[in-house]
Amino acid sequence: MSFLANNYNRKDLAFEKGKGSYLISKKGKKYLDFVQGIAVNSLGHANPKLVEAINKQSRKLWHVSNAFKIPEGEKLAKKIVNRTFADSVIFQNSGAEATETAIKIARRYFYSIGKPYKTRIICIKNSFHGRTLAAIHASGSKKMVEGFGPKFPGFDHFKFGDHKKLKSLINKNTAAIMIETVMGEGGIKVIPSWCIKELRELCDKKNILLILDEVQCGIGRSGKFFAFEYAKVKPDIVPIAKGIGGGFPIGAVLMTNKISKAMTPGTHGSTFGGNPLAMTVGNAVLDQINNKLLNNVNKMSKYFIKNLENLKKKYPNIIKEVRGLGLLIGLQLFNDQTKFIQKLMDNKLLTIRAAENVIRILPPLNVKKSEINLALKIINKVCKELN
Ligand SMILES: *Cc1c(COP(=O)(O)O)cnc(C)c1O
Repeated sequence: MSFLANNYNRKDLAFEKGKGSYLISKKGKKYLDFVQGIAVNSLGHANPKLVEAINKQSRKLWHVSNAFKIPEGEKLAKKIVNRTFADSVIFQNSGAEATETAIKIARRYFYSIGKPYKTRIICIKNSFHGRTLAAIHASGSKKMVEGFGPKFPGFDHFKFGDHKKLKSLINKNTAAIMIETVMGEGGIKVIPSWCIKELRELCDKKNILLILDEVQCGIGRSGKFFAFEYAKVKPDIVPIAKGIGGGFPIGAVLMTNKISKAMTPGTHGSTFGGNPLAMTVGNAVLDQINNKLLNNVNKMSKYFIKNLENLKKKYPNIIKEVRGLGLLIGLQLFNDQTKFIQKLMDNKLLTIRAAENVIRILPPLNVKKSEINLALKIINKVCKELN
């Protein structure tokens, strides 16, 4: 009997400990973990530098209010700003909070320049921006908003790829377009670079803001620090979370100078966001997201995707498409993926579902070739069994 609410469809599997790409179950079985907490444990389980950093900090100071200076946060913000388009950062605790804060910031920006009517946010239908009230309405998914009260005003939606509709939605009340650079939950759909470029031009032309949600695809997962770097554009606001904490809950919103001027004292806050313990872990994560690691992401991605394409050729009735960018990989099946994922699990490979019959494969960014080979062997075995 469980005293946890029943809002998750949990597998009957619990873990004792983890190391790198592997998890050890309570029953002592070893699993290759290509979920990694849904792209959260960017450096795998029990990364030695993260373990050391959190232990050291935990003996000194966990939490102080944002009423005081937090040097660890200053340091992390500086590192992020030095590496990216951003001029300043607000720290939060999760992805949904980060996307909601991004929405608040976009609206507040227009308010601060005397255009308070510019509040509407345009998003892709059936995208994913989190599970809080505004975020579910931003996501534009019927299933996610069902039963949760009156429709949140302020969001307009267009279908993935329907640029005509997108353009028709823009009016004088539009504040921003907010999209995931790579749609994660939506089925690992990569927004092409030319499209991101055009979105940027459109936003400039219409004087609206471009918010790129990199909660899942950011912080090295795509093979670049941010996925939008492939398009060589500069967004206005970028919410991040998952990978930045390496397993510790951290969210953040990055923004340019122009925007951050609107965020004057008292406009936004968080009790926990950016506390010394979280910021110490964030610093230890970011210090390891270096060029060497990004090279590994790109090399392993190429190898993995090439071999998954080979499996697609070998099993053309099972695998429909191989999708992805970096180590955010989707294996789209012709049929429902539930049984396939279960069989992978039975063979000690953990993966997770996404929309459109996609199996999401999320190795840690420091994954080894031998681990990918093991995953390929298991995927091949399951294909053969289901063929
Ligand atoms: C996971 C995710 C979120 C929500 O993050 P939480 O930490 O679960 O609130 C928002 N946007 C994207 C793109 C995500 O993948």
